[in-house]
Amino acid sequence: MSNQPVRVRFAPSPTGSMHVGGIRTALYNYLFAKHHGGSMVLRIEDTDSERSDHKLAEEQLDDLRWLGIEWDEGPHVPGEFGPYYQSERLNYYKQYVDQLLKEGHAYYCFLTDEEIEAQKAKAEANGDPYQIVSPYRDFSYDDPKITKRLEKNEKATVRFKVKDPNRIYTFEDLVRGEINLPAHMVGDFVLLRSDGMPVYNFCCVVDDHAMKISHVFRGEEHLSNTLRQLMLYESLGFEIPHFGHLSIILDEDRKKLSKRHKAASCSDLKTLGYVPEGIINYLALLGWSHPRGEEILSMTDLVESFTVDRVNASPAVFDIQKMHWLNGQHIRNMTPKQLWALLSELPEFSKLALPTSNGWNEKALAVIWSECDTLAHAIDLLRIWFDQSHFNIVEPSKEVLDWPNTKMILEAWLSQLNDDAFLTADAYKAIVENIKTTVEGGVKGKFLFMPLRVAMIGSPHGPDLHLLAEALPVKLLKERAAACLKLCN
Ligand code: GLU
Repeated sequence: MSNQPVRVRFAPSPTGSMHVGGIRTALYNYLFAKHHGGSMVLRIEDTDSERSDHKLAEEQLDDLRWLGIEWDEGPHVPGEFGPYYQSERLNYYKQYVDQLLKEGHAYYCFLTDEEIEAQKAKAEANGDPYQIVSPYRDFSYDDPKITKRLEKNEKATVRFKVKDPNRIYTFEDLVRGEINLPAHMVGDFVLLRSDGMPVYNFCCVVDDHAMKISHVFRGEEHLSNTLRQLMLYESLGFEIPHFGHLSIILDEDRKKLSKRHKAASCSDLKTLGYVPEGIINYLALLGWSHPRGEEILSMTDLVESFTVDRVNASPAVFDIQKMHWLNGQHIRNMTPKQLWALLSELPEFSKLALPTSNGWNEKALAVIWSECDTLAHAIDLLRIWFDQSHFNIVEPSKEVLDWPNTKMILEAWLSQLNDDAFLTADAYKAIVENIKTTVEGGVKGKFLFMPLRVAMIGSPHGPDLHLLAEALPVKLLKERAAACLKLCN
């Protein structure tokens, strides 16, 4: 690393919700900055006024904060280089357009959309790749032929002039090694739209320079933009930052992860019950690996161990099973209090009819703790196991209820349940010991425990019986045992 201070930026366009790819880009920028003691800038790229929405920008910021990706400068965090919404920086761009026009790197172009469409159609008919050919490219900005038309308020864009199509632009990508981009990949591109609004490639270069950005990490789909930006850096005489292009993310079918995927956006992940710690851990591993192969990592661990040489250039496959598993690990890393606080904030939680007695939630947590991988799953389990209106005797229980001793076991169980609000551990143990000996011929193992579990939760499989027996109010235990008994032969 050079002595230049590390300054990275995450620069979302507020045209949609925050997606997995965007979160990973933000995260890698954040981890890189924090690992090197640098700063992260957050900049909103909203000069496409038709597609940008302030509300979406604020939602994206909320998502980042929820995930624990905090920025050092940006919206709501004043810094030396603000404002951080590009739409509030329009006067910063103007001087550089003028500079490019004056120095012959850009020109006014009066081509209309129809003329451009006609050029495209012609190229297509001839089977040629399309590239814009502007009859205005060789006119200076102050040529009277141009100034007269401007004075008449004719609509013009300002285009960058790609001077040498045969030139190859080369740079050392921090993720992918040497990259060579031939200039002819791009035609003369727009800097200012005809309504005077500057476009992404131009604003991005002006701002990365103005904000003293040292490293730019973004998705590989931006490589052709990087070519345009390299041309701009050179023409404006700006120092070029280091670039690192992150691989694309593929879905389970090895197709580009679509925005329609059920877990594509931050709000999807939240709704599915993933916790920030799980999401961050999983996305960090989606294209990067820990030097000792460790998998369960907190943000602090990640900051400590993240280096760009371990970022993988090949496509990353989004594996929701793995995220699920990692999320479960982070849920189990929380204290019961933390988990309960998260669950009780969820809108579904308030719809549950749960036991209300003091200390009950600790007993319930002991039951769901080892079983749930997401908060949504925890809510489901609370609903199925503790909300009597959702008690349901599921299919595999029917066979258990038909076993020869089941009826006797459940009768014994029901008759020994006391009138206390809850069973104590000792009371439960005593009942079970009693059943073992009183049922004719003796009963043990699964032939004892499966019937009891069915009588508690309507399923032969699930958490430890003694945890359930202590967490379910005796009133529910009685109702459920009676309902099961009715189905026994
Ligand atoms: N606003 C661009 C985007 O959201 C940013 C690309 C970049 O990081 O330069 O894709």
